[in-house]
Amino acid sequence: MGWFSKDIQTMDDLFVHTLRDIYYAENKITKALPGMIEKATDSKLRAGFAEHLKETEGHVRRLDEVFRLHGVESGGVNCPAIDGIIEEAADVSSEVADKQVLDAALIAAAQAVEHYEMTRYGTLVAWAKELGRPDCASLLQANLDEEKATDMRLTKIAESRVNANAAA
Ligand code: FE
Ligand code: FE
Repeated sequence: MGWFSKDIQTMDDLFVHTLRDIYYAENKITKALPGMIEKATDSKLRAGFAEHLKETEGHVRRLDEVFRLHGVESGGVNCPAIDGIIEEAADVSSEVADKQVLDAALIAAAQAVEHYEMTRYGTLVAWAKELGRPDCASLLQANLDEEKATDMRLTKIAESRVNANAAA
């Protein structure tokens, strides 16, 4: 795009830009999760992170399919928001010595990531429907559903065991 035009002109451009934002985020999360699995102590938490890593790889594949259906090349744009969330998670967890407290910190960080994804997918589903792309909307909804389920699962692990162990 040139000097006198902005890159995002239409709702469709905005949709594609936001797809690229979450595509970047999902790829970044794929790289961050193995480190979180390694740091986690609680067996259910480790298993939950491992399962979500597999799901996250599936999210990237669904996004590839959304790009294909929409007729644009798949790819990411920088997303400083997810960079910040992941950077903060790494900073905080590197300062926690106690293993149980570290688990609580890891869950808090992971839930910040899930909520970021949920806000992006919620928006993308609504926009895909508005743009006449129910095919894209249902793939994006499938990702959204897994983010929501993961968020609820993390709440359950935190409230049933990890928080109490950390506070003990
Ligand atoms: Fe995801
Ligand atoms: Fe996720």
